[in-house]
Amino acid sequence: MNNPVCRQCPVSRHKGAAGLLTIVRSGMTRRPKPIVLTKADVSRFWSKVARVGLNDCWVWTCGCGSGGYGAFRAGVRMLRANRVAYVICKGDTELQVLHTCNNPPCCNPAHLYAGTDKDNMRQCSRDGRVKPPIGEKHHFAKLTVQMVRKARRLYAIRWFQREIAELFGCSSKTISKLLTGKSWRSV
Ligand SMILES: [Zn+2]
Repeated sequence: MNNPVCRQCPVSRHKGAAGLLTIVRSGMTRRPKPIVLTKADVSRFWSKVARVGLNDCWVWTCGCGSGGYGAFRAGVRMLRANRVAYVICKGDTELQVLHTCNNPPCCNPAHLYAGTDKDNMRQCSRDGRVKPPIGEKHHFAKLTVQMVRKARRLYAIRWFQREIAELFGCSSKTISKLLTGKSWRSV
């Protein structure tokens, strides 16, 4: 069977049993498809952006997708409006298009930069968008909301902290903390 393998890249093409052309990728991370925009796409795009002052946020005025990012249709593809603005003004990128202004529908190219997941996380923590996990979501959590409520009810009817700790299989210190409001303040 004809099974040509490209020596320049890790992609080999071969015909499978069904005679269909398949592409086998070995150890290659999938790259985002390049964005191709027509002149009409570009003018349609800017007609949906409220371009105000140079330093202001240029907000997308049409439909938004998840996370409040603008959604723009180019051909058959649905694209994030901030990415389209970046591509038009600065060229395509394989990285994520991030905001310096922390405003998802903003399409002002001056507020956009290309970055990695790490950059995104760094920016999130700088902006205070990463909240420390609380309650059950905390990775040390041994108790559930129901258990915390029950522990407080038992304490109210004069159970000892030691007894409550024994019941839930945790330390007296854990129980003491949740009773005094040092932990589980959200419950
Ligand atoms: Zn902005």
